[in-house]
Amino acid sequence: MRNNQKQLKLSFLGGVGEVGKNMMCLEYGEDMIIIDSGVAFPSDDMPGIDLVIPDFNYVIRNKNRIKAVIITHGHEDHIGSLPYLMQEINAPVYASRLTAALIDNKLREHKKKFKTNVVKNKTVVKAGCFSIEFVKVTHSISGSMAIAVTTPVGVWFHTGDFKMDFTPIDGEPMDLVRLAEISKKGVLMLTADSTNAERPGFSMSEKKVGATLDGLFAQNKQKRIIIATFASNVHRIQQILDLCEKYGRRCVFTGRSMQNVCETASKIGELRYNRENITDVNSLNKYDDDKICILCTGSQGEPNSALSRMANDEFPKIEITNNDYVIFSASAIPGNEKEISEVINLLYKKGASVIYESLAEVHVSGHAYQEELKIIHSIIKPKFFVPCHGEFRHLRAHANIAIDLGMHERNIVIPDLGDQIAITPNSIKKIGQVPAGIKLIDGLDISSANGIVQRDRMQLATEGLCVVVLTISSKKFVLTSKPDIVTKGFIYANDNANIIEEAKDLVINSIINADFKSNDWNAIKDMIRKVLGNLFFKALKRKPIIIPIIVPTV
Ligand SMILES: [Zn+2]
Ligand SMILES: [Zn+2]
Repeated sequence: MRNNQKQLKLSFLGGVGEVGKNMMCLEYGEDMIIIDSGVAFPSDDMPGIDLVIPDFNYVIRNKNRIKAVIITHGHEDHIGSLPYLMQEINAPVYASRLTAALIDNKLREHKKKFKTNVVKNKTVVKAGCFSIEFVKVTHSISGSMAIAVTTPVGVWFHTGDFKMDFTPIDGEPMDLVRLAEISKKGVLMLTADSTNAERPGFSMSEKKVGATLDGLFAQNKQKRIIIATFASNVHRIQQILDLCEKYGRRCVFTGRSMQNVCETASKIGELRYNRENITDVNSLNKYDDDKICILCTGSQGEPNSALSRMANDEFPKIEITNNDYVIFSASAIPGNEKEISEVINLLYKKGASVIYESLAEVHVSGHAYQEELKIIHSIIKPKFFVPCHGEFRHLRAHANIAIDLGMHERNIVIPDLGDQIAITPNSIKKIGQVPAGIKLIDGLDISSANGIVQRDRMQLATEGLCVVVLTISSKKFVLTSKPDIVTKGFIYANDNANIIEEAKDLVINSIINADFKSNDWNAIKDMIRKVLGNLFFKALKRKPIIIPIIVPTV
């Protein structure tokens, strides 16, 4: 038993078999560290849900063992659930400066407080038996870190989200020299970003986007330029601000997250611009179109974002005209295509010109392509490999890359959600499952993945509601008046008066024929649900939620 406890174990509470809500848990003996605490966005079958966070039960159960929470970078799929996690545990949090500033922003929104310890490239943090070194990587947000964790059984290297951009906007490429030094000591296990493991070649540098945008600014000197991008892509925003300066345009930040991130990033020097070149929506009428660039949220077609509101004539003081040149400087996150397309159509209808990824190189991915992954594997030279950050197909593609590079399949583990992997100097294997799943954030509520509530919402939305009111004498156990039936969103009552009358008769007959021993109201309700459910399905092929209400009388 003791021996068993002294294994290095890595558990996946999110981020595998999916893109989103990244969270891992590394433990040895009594010590445990958490890596990232992200969110995922709700799918179409989760009506009313705002966010999806990992099920933290395993972490909460072990809260006295947690020595550190390591955050690799400031994207929502890595920091989004941190305020919820920190309600439950008490441990030091470590992150780079921009990541820490974004976490602080989030805490203000949640009216919570804890301090994040700021780390830099090569900072080493001790956490129980672990020693964690941070290594700067390039990604679509600055301040992204890989980690090299020295454990009692060997070194674990985790890339975090990364790409290899050798001409990054901040002039600081990935620290490959440091990676080589870490590799020299021998790396037991590598876990690495698999998002683009299916894409051959190299990803383009962020600089390429700047060059494309420069060309678009030059070609559209008379027009007002509107650019939608991810608020967190500080380097993209820096390039746009530089172009505004070059072409003599004032920049307007619109959308709450765009304003928040730009404010935060400029405060800590991650974003540099001349304040005089920034103006606000209220002053827009002072400038001609060719002197303005509007930087906004909404690159994913989000209904409440600044760009969607502009396209729908709902944004105060900004009206889209045929002198607008709108650039989507982002790619569609799978699942958002329809919303984006709707916004593009609305913008075209108003006469605006619209440019998006398939028309020009106005976006690059922040995740490594196959050749970049090969470089990481070749430098780190791990004994064991565990692909992460991706759907199963991405993880499999990444495993195949490792095999192409000469690794044996038995040295690779493809994890599933909740898997716990044990690693010794000579072996790696799945040893079981820890509790893992989703919790749903509904307004201010955290609820377990409450299947019943979600199912009811879906059924209400698609099938409607049918309420049956029965007055029953509790002494004689007979109906004292004809049942009443009220429906919402179920049928067009006028067209279907017959079926409602048929339903009432069916209820009356069922109760007359029923043989209930006592006033078993629940048994009556179950029966009503069953007989009406059958009737509606047979007659209309519909399955409304049926709610019998019994009013007992004497
Ligand atoms: Zn990321
Ligand atoms: Zn990510």
